[in-house]
Amino acid sequence: MSEKLTAQIVAIGTELLLGNTVDTNSAYIAKELGKQGILVKGVAVEGDDQSRIVSALQKALSESAVVFTTGGLGPTVDDKTRSSVAAAVGRELIFDEDLLKQIEARFAKFKRKMKPNNATQAYIPANAIALENPVGTAPCFIVEEGDKALISLPGVPREMKYMLHNVVIPYLRKRYNINQVLKTKTLHVVGMGESDIDSRISHLEELENPIVGLGAHAGVVDIRITASGDSEAEVDQLIADVETEARAQLGEAIYGEDGETPADAVIRMLRARQQTIYAVESGTASLLASRLAAADVGGETFVGADLGATKVHGSQLEPVVEALVTSKGTTVNADFVCANVVTSEGKDVSYGTAVWTKASGLLYSHHTDVSANAAYVSSWGANACMARLLKYLREVS
Ligand code: AMP
Ligand code: MG
Repeated sequence: MSEKLTAQIVAIGTELLLGNTVDTNSAYIAKELGKQGILVKGVAVEGDDQSRIVSALQKALSESAVVFTTGGLGPTVDDKTRSSVAAAVGRELIFDEDLLKQIEARFAKFKRKMKPNNATQAYIPANAIALENPVGTAPCFIVEEGDKALISLPGVPREMKYMLHNVVIPYLRKRYNINQVLKTKTLHVVGMGESDIDSRISHLEELENPIVGLGAHAGVVDIRITASGDSEAEVDQLIADVETEARAQLGEAIYGEDGETPADAVIRMLRARQQTIYAVESGTASLLASRLAAADVGGETFVGADLGATKVHGSQLEPVVEALVTSKGTTVNADFVCANVVTSEGKDVSYGTAVWTKASGLLYSHHTDVSANAAYVSSWGANACMARLLKYLREVS
């Protein structure tokens, strides 16, 4: 492909700056544009302040071919998008008779009384392309400036999504001749830290296509491989080459791909071996047990849990958890017992994890003191013991 098409988003609304509404629209638009191979290189959030919106729009237009606004298309005086877009491109706001008729028809359809200020929504910048909004009352529009496009969408997420998928993406594909295919594959790693992974695959992270990125959460690291190309076969091959290299570098640490969680992988591997697992937990809101249960549809692999296992001080955690998992192992009839125990005293949180196997007894036990949110630590501990079990299962299979 020639030069990459880039976009920018200006999210408009004082509520976004006050923190009352989270700007989910920009994230959504960015993700959907990414699937079209359009790179969003900047997002600006502005209040209902015309001069700030105008400068944000002019800056965005000077840098990218496609600029989105979301929000501020309502009928009230604090809705500044229409006038700001007109000012940013030096055009007047023009009354559009057809738009007024569409707005009137929408009100009539829903038997709502139209207020005089709704008529202001029939004003759009001169020569803009008006876009009918069949799921709301605020009409949207596109202003074309040379080879650039300034696209104004509603703030209401449901309306924005409708317009994006049904009108705007088809428009962009046609106008900018986008034929390319874009695909993402995600590999999941447990039991290896982000910096360790980074040092092994940094050469992949420097590639331009596929783009390889890391995302870490509670002991699981995602490696996202996103490739674009002119055909499905080309894209699949680009991804496969990177995946082969990532697996060569990280081996057993990659436990699954795309939607698979560590619990899904544990259940999948145990099911294949016709083996079972039992959980021992405390202080974790049953996180390990609930993840295993959710993954084990049918309930034949995850055979039970002891959920109020212990309350001890962090420093005594490891031997206690070790003893617990071992004694449970000898009394319950399961092939594996995993423990995840979290204790907290104020900000000091400790977790202890252990894995016991019927074949060879205690496989692993571990204890860490951290200063973090207990819910996060629970998730970390659950992933840590599942990581150890997965490693074992990969080694013995
Ligand atoms: P507006 O189009 O500015 O009248 O916004 C209408 C409604 O859409 C607001 O009340 C918000 O709840 C929602 N909204 C506006 N902007 C956003 C945004 N960027 N992300 C998510 N929701 C938004
Ligand atoms: Mg608003």
